[in-house]
Amino acid sequence: MVSFPGQGHVNPMLRLGKRLAAKGILVTFSTAESYGCQMRKTNNNLSDEPTPCGSGMIRFEFIDDAWDYSKPGGNDLGLYMQHLESVGKQVLPQMIEENKKRGRPVSCLVNNPFIPWVSDVAEILGIPSAVLWVQSAASFSCYYHYMHKLVPFPTESEPKLEVQLPAMPLLKHDEIPSFLHPASPYTMLKKAILGQFNKSSPFCILMDTFQELELELVEHLSKLCPIKTVGPLFKHPKLSSPDGEDFRGDLLTSDSGVMQWLDSKPSSSVVYISFGSVVILKQEQIDELAYGLLNSGVNFLWVLKEPSPGTSYLPVKLPDGFLDKAGDRAKIVQWCPQEQVLAHPSLACFLTHCGWNSTMEAVSIGTPIIAFPQFGDQVLDAKYLVDVFKVGIRLCRGEDENRIIPRDEVEKCVREATSGAKATEMKENALKWKKAAADAVTEGGSSQLNLQAFIDDIVATCTAEKFKKAGLQ
Ligand code: UDP
Repeated sequence: MVSFPGQGHVNPMLRLGKRLAAKGILVTFSTAESYGCQMRKTNNNLSDEPTPCGSGMIRFEFIDDAWDYSKPGGNDLGLYMQHLESVGKQVLPQMIEENKKRGRPVSCLVNNPFIPWVSDVAEILGIPSAVLWVQSAASFSCYYHYMHKLVPFPTESEPKLEVQLPAMPLLKHDEIPSFLHPASPYTMLKKAILGQFNKSSPFCILMDTFQELELELVEHLSKLCPIKTVGPLFKHPKLSSPDGEDFRGDLLTSDSGVMQWLDSKPSSSVVYISFGSVVILKQEQIDELAYGLLNSGVNFLWVLKEPSPGTSYLPVKLPDGFLDKAGDRAKIVQWCPQEQVLAHPSLACFLTHCGWNSTMEAVSIGTPIIAFPQFGDQVLDAKYLVDVFKVGIRLCRGEDENRIIPRDEVEKCVREATSGAKATEMKENALKWKKAAADAVTEGGSSQLNLQAFIDDIVATCTAEKFKKAGLQ
């Protein structure tokens, strides 16, 4: 498995790796060394030797990208992606060859979005390849229809065009993945994502969603592409290395005391706030959020990460005297074990940037949402959380809105999501999705069956290959 080096990519890929290993497969998990070395620091059980995981094995081997994020230009994503592609195309075949020599021939290569060149490597080497799509089926559909020019999308002359796709609600111009907008500054990401849609080689597109969540759309897309929904991938039986530690891909270590702090709070009383691993809010927005939370009277756990070294962002600051005023009602952390936090009984709701992993985790755990999307697929996920899954209320529309959300709007939204009729309705819907997600991953469930079918395909290919080599076919 080759993952793009980003938290939102590594998490679902590693979760898939653990599920495949649990079924008896030997998985090699790879990403760029510049990310992998951080992963190793935070998780000391990631060995390059096969380590038992369920009835199979998992090992970690990284692609030496020799990249220093803290050097000048080290955070230029465009430069980095070009560099990773040129290094990866050389190193990955060597890694595969070396593994073959050691008696570990690769039967299938799996990659996730932003690194479509992995499919090229697979094709050149004649290895079956699959893709793990780490966003929603709805987002996949947007890119698919855009790429194949099947319906009109906003253009420079018609920037506010609404988009109607099969089996999806009508999307306003700021509800399609923002990279597809003519004015989007993230042209590199758009190119990298669409690059995957050109490839004919993947025999399977796995998706970290579940059929029942995006039912009609999944049925429709299945007629166009070889998709298999296998989510929620994070919901797997506890799998750990022999020393009892889970295999995780976090870049940061979770702050201590988070779970004890949650334990000390009454049931359904805490708002959890996180904007994932990439979004950085303006200082003014942080100030308004802080006062909105303070004035709402709720308890809150807030992940406020420092910007990565080498970026132009200033360290985040909370307003003067804020922590004293909030007292024990507030816990501010750099990083936390999000899946455990979302599942804690003291949690009332999740104020999120609506990244797909956070969305999937919250929906499957049954946590109501306050949607605060910024860019990319987050704006589409927010639309679905609010209007389709009906588990969320909207606090903003995304970067395109270009305004600071003031404290009174934050306060109103937090109050509405934590008490009263709307809060109850959202919780009821969230619990329905929780049950549907649990059913999808249990024995006989849609995702479990799809995962098994994928494994059967790999094993069948592998067995056919062995027969061929032995001259039996
Ligand atoms: N996450 C975490 N602890 C935190 C914040 C985030 O473990 O304090 C995890 C979260 O559970 C999710 C991932 O980081 O799996 C973030 O992925 P997402 O797609 O939501 O957002 P991205 O970081 O890609 O914008």
